[in-house]
Amino acid sequence: MAHPKRDYGMDAMQTGDTELIRAINRFHVLDTIRRFEPISRAEIGERTQLSRTTVSAIITALLDESVIYYDEGDAAGPQAKSSATRGRPRVLLRMNPNAAYVVGAKLSMHQVSITVTNLKAEPLSCLVLPVRTWRLGAALIADLLEDGIRAAVAKAGITMAQIAGVGVGLPGFIDSVAGISHWSPILATEPAPVPFAKMLSDRLGVSAVIENDANLVTLAERWFGHGQGVDNFVIVTVEAGIGMGLFINGDLYRGHHGMGTEFGHSKIDRHGPLCRCGQHGCIEAFTADYAILREARKIVDLPPTEDEPSIEAAVCEVTRMARDGHEGLRAVFAAAGEILGLGIANLVNIIDPGKVIISGAGMRAADLLEPSVRAAVAAASLRVLNGRCEIIFHDWTDEVWARGAASLVLQGLYRVPWSRNARIEMAI
Ligand SMILES: [Zn+2]
Repeated sequence: MAHPKRDYGMDAMQTGDTELIRAINRFHVLDTIRRFEPISRAEIGERTQLSRTTVSAIITALLDESVIYYDEGDAAGPQAKSSATRGRPRVLLRMNPNAAYVVGAKLSMHQVSITVTNLKAEPLSCLVLPVRTWRLGAALIADLLEDGIRAAVAKAGITMAQIAGVGVGLPGFIDSVAGISHWSPILATEPAPVPFAKMLSDRLGVSAVIENDANLVTLAERWFGHGQGVDNFVIVTVEAGIGMGLFINGDLYRGHHGMGTEFGHSKIDRHGPLCRCGQHGCIEAFTADYAILREARKIVDLPPTEDEPSIEAAVCEVTRMARDGHEGLRAVFAAAGEILGLGIANLVNIIDPGKVIISGAGMRAADLLEPSVRAAVAAASLRVLNGRCEIIFHDWTDEVWARGAASLVLQGLYRVPWSRNARIEMAI
């Protein structure tokens, strides 16, 4: 009620940027239908604060494109959400999840996972290939992805012609806009930069987008998880390394050179252990899987570990022993959690986010980390912020990555005006 009408027609006339205005308004209408369906036109108007004329024009276009449809079943039913308007039956709108299909893929050092989803990022088929990707080189990885994606699409019972786009997440310094990997542990044998998005789209005949994997989780949380309706939040991923994604003012923040938010390599102790980046005292060197193992080896015998799968297996074993009551190992996790919590308190003090979401494969040990993380955040956050930022431990599923990869493509389909929408306030 107190909100001004959020119609950008006036701005459009003044700036001449009518395409942007249309994209923003369309996104808000589509996103509102996605989140609150089945929903009436009037409720869309209320939630988006757009005028009836604007909502009506956008809905007509979306109906023409078959992206949304009238929900006949609920149209005049007793479940209609609010009071009927002028005696007409309530006409409710829903998103058509099968208006488009997308493919999400995640590349990690020892695995390729591929998921085909619909427009709502609901998985239709999945394929997981255990492959030591880092040995292959870019061309072979692209070939492998091509074969895997074609197989996953066939398994979903659809054809490549129905695929609107492919989103791929991988670790490293990724320029998503240019489709280039500047550095990735998976493509480390290649001379940088690698135009990996083009290599994929050439093979598949479908547009492909690549993105840093932590950013993918951020997008997944924004679209489908704890980040919905939150314009400032932080994701911290705990696994082989420590990743971070940052949403600021409703937009994914990448940094001036696209290399920002390397939380794992922020320094917590200049005399601390050596990190994989070659420097000392990074948060990652205290809290990532290899750091847990380094400390665990000081108190228990563990088999040698030379690659990521063997490290993961050993960490799982250490986690089990700690959970079974091994006090020394419980202390290892508690110490790692304390460092992670101190780092997160620094983020809270610098950014003042609405939420910090901790996710990633490291959440297999969430119960062992959580008490010390929370205690350190509480102790080291500024008093004025203490308790105001919600800290969420999000149980890990591979689906998060897949949904994030699919979100990359969905952004395009939804015509999300990210990175140009700083002046737009989300109404919800
Ligand atoms: Zn480092």
